[in-house]
Amino acid sequence: MAEPHISIDIVISGCTIITMDAERRIIEDGAVAIRGERILWVGNTSELPTNWKVKQRIELSGKVLIPGLVNSHGHWAMTLFRGYMDDAPLETWLQKAWKVEAAFVSPENVKVGSQLAMIEMIRGGTTCAADMYWQYRTTTEAAIQAGFRMVNGPSFTEIAGYKGKKSTEYPEALEYLDTYQSEPMVHCCIQMHSTYTTNESMMEDAGRILEDRGLLFITHASESRSEMELVHQKYGLTPIQVLERAGLLGPRSLLAHCVYLSNEEIDKLAETGTSVAHCPSSNLKLASGIARVADMVKAGVIVSIGTDGPASNNDLDMFHEAQLAAMVQKGITGDPTVLPAEIVFAMMTLGGARAIGMGDQLGAVEAGRLADLAIMDFDAAHLTPCYDIYSHLVYAAGSADVCDVVINGRVVMRNREMLTLDEKEIKQRVRKIADEVRKL
Ligand SMILES: [Zn+2]
Repeated sequence: MAEPHISIDIVISGCTIITMDAERRIIEDGAVAIRGERILWVGNTSELPTNWKVKQRIELSGKVLIPGLVNSHGHWAMTLFRGYMDDAPLETWLQKAWKVEAAFVSPENVKVGSQLAMIEMIRGGTTCAADMYWQYRTTTEAAIQAGFRMVNGPSFTEIAGYKGKKSTEYPEALEYLDTYQSEPMVHCCIQMHSTYTTNESMMEDAGRILEDRGLLFITHASESRSEMELVHQKYGLTPIQVLERAGLLGPRSLLAHCVYLSNEEIDKLAETGTSVAHCPSSNLKLASGIARVADMVKAGVIVSIGTDGPASNNDLDMFHEAQLAAMVQKGITGDPTVLPAEIVFAMMTLGGARAIGMGDQLGAVEAGRLADLAIMDFDAAHLTPCYDIYSHLVYAAGSADVCDVVINGRVVMRNREMLTLDEKEIKQRVRKIADEVRKL
């Protein structure tokens, strides 16, 4: 029980809480107390101490409160190119993407594209997301301004960016980290586009910074057949072997896609504690293939869910992604028992938190953790009746069912109204940019 003089910022009560704690408690008529950026107390509404001084009370009867979702892989500002390069294989898609990016990924455009991405993600219950894109400094500032938790960092690549700009240089990477490593809403990392778009000297630079600073490392790996061929031509190895040789596998490494893995490689990821961001929409839409997620989970690999960029998905909806993840694995294994709903929901929350190295801070509604929460309206026709909440969360619910979102103890969406981003203005600005993109 709390001290009598305690002052609380927010008390949310009267809802069903999906805690995702170690016992996987589901608390009916539950309440959550938030002080500052953290959850202070979780329990039954009837047990709420009466002597607290509470600044804001939110009564939510009939609603379901879940841990904020963690989107472990994406390229936010590609919202600008949503639907621009569909129905093409990855190589053609990439060529088109790189051309349009060279013309349009200015700091101003990336900022507004990223703001649109954050609106979409908050509306879908996502409270923390990884980004890998040009103008990462601008995006970081936009996320801080919006009160959105982001995973971001310099990205090494040989691909030319805006107006032919070359990849991150070593000093530029350090400068970014010096500025943002102590920023509470930014979880800094070092990124590399992939083994086929970088070189050994970039890998060494990335490795050196990672070792010095103890940071998370993110890259694309083993996404498509053509990547496997390119990497084989370049190094005589698979992408996983290249990363292993460069010392880039381990508990602080997060690999996006991992569609083409051998049994040995799956075991290697499990042994080294390397995490995977599974992005089924992107893999299916680009016909890259289907990742062996059921096998990875069985082997003990930490698997999280990522939407990838909105130009290859084409949305940032974690519910859609999770449903697809579960269904595709059942379809390809011929076994409806693989990836049950509770496991998939854990991938959307705790799996994401663990994959980004914040497994003890995010992903569950538990005293002491950061207050990142989403509240869902379960009164909808498509969620009636409810026998099993996990089943609904994975197979029936969608972004539109999320009504309130709290990030770092701050309410950023209330009754579906965005409180930290001007949605109308941002959409108008993106449409203007799209008018220019059409002329390219
Ligand atoms: Zn990606």
